[in-house]
Amino acid sequence: EEMLLTVRNLRKYFPIRGGLLGRPVGSVKAVDGVSFEIEKGETLGLVGESGCGKSTTGMLILRLLEATEGEIWFEGRDVTKFKRKELRQFRRHAQIIFQDPYASLNPRMAVGDIIAEPMMLHNLAVGAERTKLVEKLMRLVGLSPHYADRYPHEFSGGQRQRIGIARALAVQPKLVVCDEPVSALDVSIQSQILNLLVELQRELGLTYLFIAHGLNVVKHISDRIGVMYLGKMVELANGEELITQPLHPYTKTLLSAIPVPQPGAKKSRILLEGDVPSPANPPKGCRFHTRCPECMPVCAEEEPEFRKVGSRHIACHLIQ
Ligand code: SF4
Ligand code: MG
Repeated sequence: EEMLLTVRNLRKYFPIRGGLLGRPVGSVKAVDGVSFEIEKGETLGLVGESGCGKSTTGMLILRLLEATEGEIWFEGRDVTKFKRKELRQFRRHAQIIFQDPYASLNPRMAVGDIIAEPMMLHNLAVGAERTKLVEKLMRLVGLSPHYADRYPHEFSGGQRQRIGIARALAVQPKLVVCDEPVSALDVSIQSQILNLLVELQRELGLTYLFIAHGLNVVKHISDRIGVMYLGKMVELANGEELITQPLHPYTKTLLSAIPVPQPGAKKSRILLEGDVPSPANPPKGCRFHTRCPECMPVCAEEEPEFRKVGSRHIACHLIQ
């Protein structure tokens, strides 16, 4: 197993400014010491409620945001140390697909130009060759090349996401961060796009970091799944194991939120009490203790370490 990406102790603190002078008065600990690896060709699912830091983690890896601390190793080199030129080269190898395809596509650009733009930025393929590549990409994502002259508003939500995918693939990346790529789409379209991403991965040997807020989206396509809560990774395991045998209380609540497919099958949904605490002022001890159904006295005092237990990693005082 060859690692494509290794993330070590990643942190992102956003300063909170206050008062008339806008002086820093605190910080939002959006990502607070996260470590994981992604093997070449695998899909790592990253899940958690909004505000848990999963999108920020994706942005940090691509350096669309600068990390406060930590290391990001991509093919043996630390991305956080890259200067301009190296960063440019890295961007060819690591791309992102956004949640809202409409917001991320320039409305004044024809679709063919949108897909060709990354090639232009990276000096890949010129003239007729570029046009050919755009046509090939459009076919690859299931769009007719005849539509290359049309504008984003002429397409449906699912088609727009296909355009976003084609654009991300235009520079032939190795790693693709998929940031909730189906969350904004109709349920009927979601599985089409998920299937497309799986096919493309197989065909092009892509590696995915697949971000979603619920386990139902990632469970079919992830080799491993990481669960985040308030800026921390709380459980990281083989996808199958995590779904069939969740150990962390938070993972259990996320799983209980997935509707049961067979009628008559019973599953009780675990309802969490209280709101997600603010990442500017996370609870002491285990960050989940204010909502955890299995909370013990130690949980409010000591932060559980994220450590290896069997084949998985987990941060919980219950699991020894
Ligand atoms: Fe719940 Fe305690 Fe485990 Fe945190 S450490 S998840 S509060 S049991
Ligand atoms: Mg997000």
